Amino acid sequence: MADKFDLIVIGAGPGGYVAAIRAAQLGLKTACVEKWIDKEGKTVHGGTCLNVGCIPSKALLEASHKFIEAQHDFDDMGIQAGDVTMDVKKMMARKDKIVKNLTGGIAGLFKANGVTALEGAGKVLSSKQVEVSKDGEKVVYEADNIVIASGSVPVDIPPTPLTEGLIVDSTGALEFDETPKRLGVIGAGVIGLELGSVWNRLGSEVTVLEAMDSFLPMVDQAVAKETQKLLKKQGLDIKLGARVTGSDIKDNEVVVKYADSEGDKEITFDKLIVCVGRRPYTQGLLGDDAGVKLDERGFIFVDDQCRTSVPGVYAIGDVVRGPMLAHKASEEGIMVADIVAGHKAEMNYDAIPSVIYTFPEVAWVGMNEQEAKAAGIEVKSGSFPFAASGRAMANNATEGMAKVITDAETDRVLGMHIVGQHAGEMIAQGVIAMEFGSSAEDLALTCYAHPTMSEAVHEAALAVDGHAIHMANRKKRK
Ligand code: FAD
Ligand code: NAD
Repeated sequence: MADKFDLIVIGAGPGGYVAAIRAAQLGLKTACVEKWIDKEGKTVHGGTCLNVGCIPSKALLEASHKFIEAQHDFDDMGIQAGDVTMDVKKMMARKDKIVKNLTGGIAGLFKANGVTALEGAGKVLSSKQVEVSKDGEKVVYEADNIVIASGSVPVDIPPTPLTEGLIVDSTGALEFDETPKRLGVIGAGVIGLELGSVWNRLGSEVTVLEAMDSFLPMVDQAVAKETQKLLKKQGLDIKLGARVTGSDIKDNEVVVKYADSEGDKEITFDKLIVCVGRRPYTQGLLGDDAGVKLDERGFIFVDDQCRTSVPGVYAIGDVVRGPMLAHKASEEGIMVADIVAGHKAEMNYDAIPSVIYTFPEVAWVGMNEQEAKAAGIEVKSGSFPFAASGRAMANNATEGMAKVITDAETDRVLGMHIVGQHAGEMIAQGVIAMEFGSSAEDLALTCYAHPTMSEAVHEAALAVDGHAIHMANRKKRK
């Protein structure tokens, strides 16, 4: 008879492995099932995020940014580095080592916290039974509660079917062993801009084809416009309103057909990355009698506390509604573990930060000015350019701006949108402000260390009432 658990988690990505560790810490007898097999044929934990997502992409973004800095910024600082070259294979080996370290670390965390790691594919048979199959063998485990954290996979589109080494998804684009001369990217979303930036920095001519007419519509449009301008200056050719209609492979090249406002066009690339979004992954996950309902888009249907349609069965992360972000998945994992352990728990879905790790980074939380106005809220906002920041000058990072959006009546912070070096670190201030229901005045009255990039957030908060110190003042204080 197989073991019985208080909780079985299916999937060991940032949603599942965090849920499992938290549950075990709270005293629940917990198992986590994972089916991801690495190139050596071993089961690995960490899901998309650690294996082919957040971590490897950031390793490449950091390396490629340093390559650009060494070529263009060092000289101005008096550093003579000589001819700077990039060894792509070495950069990839470093990335692989980081991934291996981190994914291997989860097994250690499971052991330290008493989580049982089950290898194989998990299937929910009923509210209290999970079947785990590996190499043709099946074992059924009993559980009082089940958490589904099976994640997501890339969307593919009929005009550009994946073709080994030529038309790839984000996973393929993390594996190029040399820099393509002409790189096409379909989708000017988060992946398109991050991976497009990596290869652009390493010397590819990058063209991004985006179906929508607007650029980064979820970001405040002042910040989005500034970002678009900066990426264009770096060499990314972003074509908006470009609808891809087909593709051909000719002489080891990819010919992409697309239509824009001027009509039908063709463009030839050495490699093409398709990054047009991700879809929930539920293949082989639900037995015929599981009873777990999906929504109309294929996500597992859950309530605000991640309960599915079946009592005792929860679902978290990319496989359920909401932004597809690692930290959102982890927070849901913690919430659900707390609930299963009998505690009260909830999440504030309005205060989930997003970051695009281009240079400079783009980060935001809460509403942008356009969304707030569309929701009928009377809005005030304050902005501050990094060009006026002493630390930004010292860092050679004067591009970008910080913007604070508030409710004109209450001064409460509704959102913060930043494009600038370290924006991904700075945005935590906006998250905390929103979590604590702070006003712009609260931020303005806070003492910030000098000189820091974060002072731009302080100044933007002061600017909400026209009182930024290092900008021409527009108002006299009453
Ligand atoms: P996943 O990480 O997808 O994990 C799901 C796990 O479940 C997988 O290991 C899978 O093998 C396993 N599984 C599925 N079905 C079964 C089954 N039946 N039995 C057993 N195991 C199963 N997010 C950020 O927040 N920041 C970033 O910088 C960032 N960068 C990204 C870069 C790229 C290139 C990509 C592709 C994504 C990035 N993301 C980023 C998104 C992030 O990776 C996901 O939001 C996150 O991994 C979702 O976590 P999850 O636990 O829900 O699912
Ligand atoms: P995305 O939703 O961010 O962007 C996809 C883009 O492709 C959109 O702008 C969309 O309009 C466009 N598009 C869709 N179909 C198209 C078509 N046929 N032709 C041209 N353009 C088309 O998706 P993504 O970039 O693939 O990323 C997937 C998910 O992974 C996102 O939800 C994101 O949150 C997550 N992710 C996060 C990070 C991060 O947090 N830094 C990094 C990478 C990925």
